Amino acid sequence: MNLEAFFKMSYGIYMIGTKHGDQISGYIANTAFQVTAEPPKIAISCHKENASAGIIDESGVFSLSVLEQETDAGLIGLFGYQSGNEKEKFERVNYTFGETGAPIIISHAVAYFECKVEDKFDVGSHFLFIGTVVDAVLLNPAGQPLTYSYFREEMKLLAPERAPTYVDKNKLSEKRQKELSANITSDQIEEQQQAPTSEQSAEGSIKEPGPRMVCTICAYVYDPEVGDEAQGIPPGTPFEDLPDDWECPVCAAAKSAFISEN
Ligand code: FE
Repeated sequence: MNLEAFFKMSYGIYMIGTKHGDQISGYIANTAFQVTAEPPKIAISCHKENASAGIIDESGVFSLSVLEQETDAGLIGLFGYQSGNEKEKFERVNYTFGETGAPIIISHAVAYFECKVEDKFDVGSHFLFIGTVVDAVLLNPAGQPLTYSYFREEMKLLAPERAPTYVDKNKLSEKRQKELSANITSDQIEEQQQAPTSEQSAEGSIKEPGPRMVCTICAYVYDPEVGDEAQGIPPGTPFEDLPDDWECPVCAAAKSAFISEN
């Protein structure tokens, strides 16, 4: 079985929100699709160990926000990779409550739906929930929705372990593993090898910013030339100079989870 064949299946990237009593929860999903037109119904797949699964099951409602292409990796990381206090996660985004009572993420959303659960199927590691759409709102008619291939190929991020589309890197071909570890394509590897290093091209003595470092959990790349503005790290900061408590801005992994891109 060639696991890379699965990379050719296309999906969007969505934020699912749900609420039961005072429990609020949300997660990033790529597996969501319309299953019927009249009445409109949408199916979503949710990992059983995900807090949202139990809450959707009990409340019978969920919202689905269609994320825009420009969604920042931090938002996806917050709801896609990081476990923790759900209420605190929601405090960091713009959201509202819909007619079903489910929280709806407005940040970076081009449209959203609210659904009432009609059916639930146990498909092994995940539950498949089928919901009837009770409201559909177009927030940004001109906005481009984020696709799963853009997420993987352009943003260079990997699906989290609980995603239905998660692929274990170790099971891919050696070439593909190298590309993912390097977080760049073969063409880019060749370009880099041909390009002069800053040492060679610079006239004076410029301090080497050190290599770009790749998160082994989510594939985020720390680029010393860019820094990490959100965590107060200025451009030009070598990875080794980051504070010990610095975390991956996408998945919150520790510095020790990073490896050199080269
Ligand atoms: Fe990460």
